[in-house]
Amino acid sequence: MNIRIGHGVDVHAFGAGDHLMLGGLRVAHDRGVLAHSDGDVLIHALCDALLGALAMGDIGQWFPPSDERFRNADSSEFLRRVMTMVASRGYQLGNADITVIAESPKIGPHRDGIRQSLAAIIGCHVDRISVKATTTEKLGFCGRGEGIAVEAVVLLQTLAPRSAATTDSWPA
Ligand code: MG
Repeated sequence: MNIRIGHGVDVHAFGAGDHLMLGGLRVAHDRGVLAHSDGDVLIHALCDALLGALAMGDIGQWFPPSDERFRNADSSEFLRRVMTMVASRGYQLGNADITVIAESPKIGPHRDGIRQSLAAIIGCHVDRISVKATTTEKLGFCGRGEGIAVEAVVLLQTLAPRSAATTDSWPA
């Protein structure tokens, strides 16, 4: 089996609004984010991790903010398109580990909803998706509540031959 690892980071500043998009899930919040697309910082970091694993550049190259087609874009569509690239190169998602860095909103109540949303977009079992959260103890821009950051790590693996897939539940 071939494996490839990828890492992605994204940051968005908070701005006016009443919700955030996190992993394709709408999360009510007293602020929104400043963004060209829907500002789904979690999906953006995840896409960069997937593209990084493929050594295929970054989300800004594939879906540039200068392109009017992506104004207010649904970032779920970015993720679907990146997963098409993953599959076309013979890989599937082994697992993703995603960390949200923010003072607010609290991620705990939304954690499983975000995991299920991502699993549905990707087409994988939810147990392949980890979502964690941390604050920065009031330090830095996240600590001051000026924005939100996400880091994502993924492992891609080659599709197992049918004869060897008996112990794996993919795809769920
Ligand atoms: Mg972004």
